Amino acid sequence: MNESEALLKDVEGEIAKRSWRLRFEDAVEARFEADTQQQRSRSMVLAGLVSAIIYVLFLFNDYSFRPDAFPVAVLLRAGVMLPIGLTILWWVHRGVSPARREALMSSTIILAMVLSCLISASSTAPYSYLDVFSFGLILVVGNVVYSLRFGYAWASSVISILIALIFVILYEPMPIEVKRLAMFTLVAKALFTLVANYRLEASERNSYLHVLKERLRAGSYLKDNQALSQLSMTDPLTNISNRRKFDALLPICWQEAIDKDISLGLLVIDIDHFKAYNDYYGHPQGDECLRKVANTMQDNSRESDLVVRFGGEEFVVLMANASPEMVKRAAERIQHSVEALQIPNHGHSKESVVTVSIGVAVLSPNVGIAPVDLLSQADEALYEAKRQGRNRIKIANLIDLSSNDAGGFGKTAP
Ligand code: GH3
Ligand code: MG
Ligand code: MG
Repeated sequence: MNESEALLKDVEGEIAKRSWRLRFEDAVEARFEADTQQQRSRSMVLAGLVSAIIYVLFLFNDYSFRPDAFPVAVLLRAGVMLPIGLTILWWVHRGVSPARREALMSSTIILAMVLSCLISASSTAPYSYLDVFSFGLILVVGNVVYSLRFGYAWASSVISILIALIFVILYEPMPIEVKRLAMFTLVAKALFTLVANYRLEASERNSYLHVLKERLRAGSYLKDNQALSQLSMTDPLTNISNRRKFDALLPICWQEAIDKDISLGLLVIDIDHFKAYNDYYGHPQGDECLRKVANTMQDNSRESDLVVRFGGEEFVVLMANASPEMVKRAAERIQHSVEALQIPNHGHSKESVVTVSIGVAVLSPNVGIAPVDLLSQADEALYEAKRQGRNRIKIANLIDLSSNDAGGFGKTAP
């Protein structure tokens, strides 16, 4: 099982589990973080900027509500919260680990709560303490606007409530009934926003799982398709390319040769006296012989050449961008390598070994001719090689390379 298949299995496991926990198993969690990190940092920074502006705008409130504490408010809101907050946002924007990102954003919530308490405490204006009722907004920012991960939302809410509680207990001018009501309201806001926070994160995680599952599945379908297509283009007996692949590639190579003004070479190769071999040794041994011959051809061709089992005991080699000289040498190499296998063919005669005859054609494709012309020229050359005695190479429309009639390299079949 490869990596994405394993991940797909984990993702399906997570979906089936329907856990209330807001954490996936390690592999999925790591992928979740990796996939969402950038977007999350970006939206947190944006939310942070808006919240910072609003926090500073509360100065209008301070000015009208408790003018005695206005200088302190300016100092704490614009001189402390703003620079620290912006530094943290810049940090998150540049990229930090997920845990640090959440911790840094949580710290802005706690800091805002501390500063708000200090501003309230520094005023003796009547009803300054009513501001405590707006402290819940700070929790709304952390739990809903930032949407801190639930653990951090919970922790920062608890710490903020404790800070507010200390302030409320110590702040004398506040009547006890108002203290109770303020704390009750703050705790209720924390609970409501934490419920919203949990739901948001749960649904974000849930939809992420489904999207990831579809993505991984699409990837594996693509791979299956590629594997199937590879399979459908491979000859099962010899494991080299089959005729389907040749038929698919020939027009492409042909057009490429026209575009680039290069030549195409084709060898049509047929095993000599193979019927006799098959009859003498039997079909399974015949198959084995086909495999050996195919391997040898593949081994003796360039990587860029397409070696194909065309059917039965017939093969072709398609050579792109090959000069007649190169094609001729390739044919020689293949002919000699098959003969060098020294596979006896007693079906034909006592001394005979398995050999091949090869028809060769080399063309510079142009508009006047068709791919099928290349094939039929090489076929005719093969027919001629057979006619002249086998185990030889004939080149279509070019000089005869057979040793018998042109002093070349071919041999007369036994
Ligand atoms: P030539 O030298 O003229 O090519 O004669 P040949 O006997 O090789 O040619 P022919 O076309 O008469 O016979 C080809 C034989 O190839 C017929 C069949 O028994 C054998 N053959 C074709 N496909 C397979 C195969 O997949 N496996 C095996 N074992 N034999 C095959
Ligand atoms: Mg044959
Ligand atoms: Mg044949």
